Amino acid sequence: MAEACRIVAEVFEELKRMIEPDISTKEIDQFVESFITSKKAYPAFKGYRGFPASVCTSVNNEVVHGIPSSRRLKEGDIISLDIGVYYRGFYGDGAITLPVGEADATARKLLMVTEDALYRGIGNAIIGNRLLDISHAIQSYVEGNGFSVVRSFVGHGIGRELHEEPQVPNFGRKGEGPLLREGMTLAIEPMVNAGGWEVEILDDGWTAVTKDGSLSAHFEHTVALTDNGPLILTKLS
Ligand code: MG
Repeated sequence: MAEACRIVAEVFEELKRMIEPDISTKEIDQFVESFITSKKAYPAFKGYRGFPASVCTSVNNEVVHGIPSSRRLKEGDIISLDIGVYYRGFYGDGAITLPVGEADATARKLLMVTEDALYRGIGNAIIGNRLLDISHAIQSYVEGNGFSVVRSFVGHGIGRELHEEPQVPNFGRKGEGPLLREGMTLAIEPMVNAGGWEVEILDDGWTAVTKDGSLSAHFEHTVALTDNGPLILTKLS
């Protein structure tokens, strides 16, 4: 899993340098697919339940599962990039949201709060905690900053399958859910809206957008629970 996740982290390092005004989401997809296959790995989202691309590209009010297209990014957009890699029998899954050029103050705050919320969730991914301790840490931090967490999509267990039990919601009560045990591997992934939490699905059957049109951000890491604390696999050391 560490090897699959390392490839996820490496793609994001490349994308951080690549994302700028005028690049199309299709060009991003082509790069991601060629990078992953050059590592003798497979882009896990391609063909997953019929998803047509190697990366989900969700721009501005799009929450998750945006499909790459000829759309060109503009200065001030934000783009969420979600990537899964399959390598030698195991999966890795991660997401980041990047500004395109200079984003405005609300967008910058949204990105910061969402990434911080992810790390607060990971900080609770500790043996002996309950699963929803992760969820509660994310929700309380996000709502304390005036934003909302999406309810209809959640994080998940991951390993030999892309999506395994348990579900990892970004909302919930402290002290509830299954006990966290050594060796569990979780994809923790807050999706945060600047406005209300409700989302809708576009006619393409995939793209989730905020119901009120507000901006949305998404950060995700695959994390292993060890007796030394949470180990972030989708991060270059
Ligand atoms: Mg995921």
